[in-house]
Amino acid sequence: MVDSHRTEDHDLSEPLIAAQRPLARTTNEDVRQKNLSTVLQLVHGRGALSRTEIGARTGLTRSTVTALVQELLDLNLVCEASVERTGRAGRPSLGVAAEDRVVALSVSAEPHSVSVALVGLGGAVHSRVRHDLAKPPSPRRFAQVTSSLIDGMRADIDRHYRLVGAGVAVPGLVDRSGTVLLSPSLGWRRENLARRLTDAIGVAVSVGNDTSVGALVETRFGVARDVDNVLYLSGSMNGIGGGLVLDGALVRGTSGFAGEFGHTVVNTSGALCSCGRRGCLQVEVHPAKVLALLGRRRLDEDELDIELGLVRDPVTIAEVARQVDVLSVALTNFVNAFAPQMVVLSGYLGVLLATSRERLAEAVRLHPVGAEGRTVRLERAHMRSHLMQIAPAELAFEPLLDDPVAQAPRN
Ligand SMILES: [Zn+2]
Repeated sequence: MVDSHRTEDHDLSEPLIAAQRPLARTTNEDVRQKNLSTVLQLVHGRGALSRTEIGARTGLTRSTVTALVQELLDLNLVCEASVERTGRAGRPSLGVAAEDRVVALSVSAEPHSVSVALVGLGGAVHSRVRHDLAKPPSPRRFAQVTSSLIDGMRADIDRHYRLVGAGVAVPGLVDRSGTVLLSPSLGWRRENLARRLTDAIGVAVSVGNDTSVGALVETRFGVARDVDNVLYLSGSMNGIGGGLVLDGALVRGTSGFAGEFGHTVVNTSGALCSCGRRGCLQVEVHPAKVLALLGRRRLDEDELDIELGLVRDPVTIAEVARQVDVLSVALTNFVNAFAPQMVVLSGYLGVLLATSRERLAEAVRLHPVGAEGRTVRLERAHMRSHLMQIAPAELAFEPLLDDPVAQAPRN
């Protein structure tokens, strides 16, 4: 352990950003912890970086970066790694990367499968197992299946890795304590999943909504990497979910389930929603009607892209256009309310973006009174299968990324 008071040579307490508010209540120790967290998050999301690059990206001086990196090396949270020098011939320089033997279990609960991936710090998937189910599992059954999948990985984990915990993504409303308040697709209600699973597998378990977790991982590893303010919306047969990342942090709201953008009312005389209101965004913009017009029961995202690219039937084209118009109205409202730098559309909404990019791009163009219109970047999520595998692990890594010294696994 590095002596935290060793600050004469290496100013570990150098502030990251020029102070804009009084720092009277911020101790050097707080600033050092924040700087360690910033450096670890940086190499976690970006891969191997030289110390010079870490300095350039954080604004910290060379000696501070050197000291912070040494402390993370001592904690075995980063390791030395070679870094390609871009644009210049010569040998690669020595940098640091996240230590991928520090791992988390990444668990996805879905109506017809449970999957568990072993994910290293930095996002590498070391192994993955999946168990298919004939029907949605009860919470008890889910815990049994998850536990036996993890038992199969246990020897490998004990031999090669240091485990920080497990993260679980659930399609449903999840509060801060890890209780699933409601998951219509799994048929769960008021289930303290974090406690049940911690008891079953014996490690700390964090539980989150699958779409919110998707938003988080998209800003760390995906299309919104390096963007601090992002609105993420994902559509599927289950409805529309979302996540709002402001200043790099996921907005959770009072009870932990902010981001229910799917229940924004866009048509007061529209169809009834599962929440009891009429005309929510997720009933007005939904793949079911489009699939019915195409004569299909189920299509994955890639298949739907192809079908809608080829469709000539005017009724189908009109239905897609109607849904795009409704989505446009909602996006204009969200963008004016939250002023994100980027809007990311995932799943079915990504399909709609591919069919009507110009219409939706116009919807997110801000027209503040008396000012030039500012363009908000509109992107389709990169997240396909790979990012979804690692997304739940981010929940488990979060405490470590926030406070590396306190949370570093000791085993
Ligand atoms: Zn609703």
